[in-house]
Amino acid sequence: MSYLVLARKSRPQTFDEVVGQKIIVRTLQNALAAGRVPHGLIFSGIRGTGKTTLARIMAKALNCEQGPTPTPCNTCSSCRDIGAGASVDLHEIDGASNRGIQEIRDLKENIRFMPTSARFKIIIIDEVHMLTSEAFNALLKTLEEPPDHVYFMFATTELHKVPVTILSRCQRYELQRVGRRELAAHYTRLAESEGITIEPAAVDLIVREAAGSVRDGLSLLDQVFSYCGDEVKAEEVAEVLGLVSDQVIADLGEALLAGDISRAMEQLNQVYGYGMNIKRFTSELLSWFRHLLFCCLNKEPGRLLDLPQEDIARFAEIAGKYPLPTVYGLFNILLEGLERANYSSQPRLAIEMAFIGAVQVGDVQPVSELLVRLDKIIAGAGQEIFMPSSSEPPRKKKVDQPAPGDISEKAQTEFQADPVKEQKTEQVQTAKKQTLAGKDAVAVTSDGPPSEEKVTNHAEKKLEPVQRTTMGLRDIKRRWPAFIDYVRDRKPWMAATLQKAVTVTLEN
Ligand SMILES: [Zn+2]
Repeated sequence: MSYLVLARKSRPQTFDEVVGQKIIVRTLQNALAAGRVPHGLIFSGIRGTGKTTLARIMAKALNCEQGPTPTPCNTCSSCRDIGAGASVDLHEIDGASNRGIQEIRDLKENIRFMPTSARFKIIIIDEVHMLTSEAFNALLKTLEEPPDHVYFMFATTELHKVPVTILSRCQRYELQRVGRRELAAHYTRLAESEGITIEPAAVDLIVREAAGSVRDGLSLLDQVFSYCGDEVKAEEVAEVLGLVSDQVIADLGEALLAGDISRAMEQLNQVYGYGMNIKRFTSELLSWFRHLLFCCLNKEPGRLLDLPQEDIARFAEIAGKYPLPTVYGLFNILLEGLERANYSSQPRLAIEMAFIGAVQVGDVQPVSELLVRLDKIIAGAGQEIFMPSSSEPPRKKKVDQPAPGDISEKAQTEFQADPVKEQKTEQVQTAKKQTLAGKDAVAVTSDGPPSEEKVTNHAEKKLEPVQRTTMGLRDIKRRWPAFIDYVRDRKPWMAATLQKAVTVTLEN
């Protein structure tokens, strides 16, 4: 007895058996029930999602002796003939090998005659996008006004290659990738019917590999059944398909998040031991982080992620442990590093570098928080170090209000050997505002001390009033380097920023 592969053995014979595509199935059944089936249908979608299967079930439904019916009986001679591929009124044409104008002429000649035994002639053209443009043109007229006894059903994986003139004459059905849950349920049922016990984790691996294509998964399942016998375990599936199990990827991801580089390297070593394809591995790891990121972002990740419930729960648990910016930062570094690994002559080295870069991320703090903290530090430092002591009353010399453009002159008149403490209060505040105001600062020069040329009215408007001081610009300039030295001893990074400070305005 010849062996029938699962994909053929388990091909759906009725609408109910179709895996996924619920909306399309319902639309077709409604059209059949209402007698509103158009004479041209086109099914598009990735390989193995059920395009030809749906076309064949439609053929059955239209030609069933009980029909046309949304539920073909599968027992009448017409249904059985179509099921066995023996119906004389069902023409299945492979568009890839019969793509010329002559084939279409022959077809047109053929459909001039009434069906032999069934109600309708059904023409199924698979991979219809492969037809030549002449062939398409030859079809146009027939599609425009098809004979009552003919139905055209086209299937294509590349809808964009089908001329618009054809598309506009057909009703379009775009098949979706089949969801993981549906695939898992389908494969588990199949294994049961074959008398094989299969671990849920093993099914998950196959479902992951199938990537939404029922047939791809079935081919893998065939391979796995041959290798494993009556009992299928996840490790064996990983072995036979050359996959890394989810657990290894998850361990690796968690090691990176925890900043445990040695554990991450150990896991990487293990992955290499499996001889896994680098591209595959990097894409697995990245999709792990993507799932985690979705769980960080969303309260109900199940609606966005097509994953088993327990996987989502696990991701949500990990997401609870790490703040979003950390996961995001790490994901970003990995994305860049692993992408590089795919093109590197030393992929392993590139991956290791990406890991090392990733663990450096640590806990990421939002900039807004850092700025608030910086603000506090500066304010605290100003009060502690530079504020005049209570015994020393603040000096405020009242002078005539100078014209706005006249600040430097005013500063000169005010300059009266004032205490260092007040001078520094203003400098600290000026520097702080430049740090925070960023682009509002007029100019940043590297030659250190503030310069009066930079004073502008524009900046004056943007800044808040500075504490009154009787310090002159020249004095500030003179004492600025000493002040920076003072800061450098305490906060080297802040000293570097202050060195670039310029005077924006000097008030009162
Ligand atoms: Zn029937």
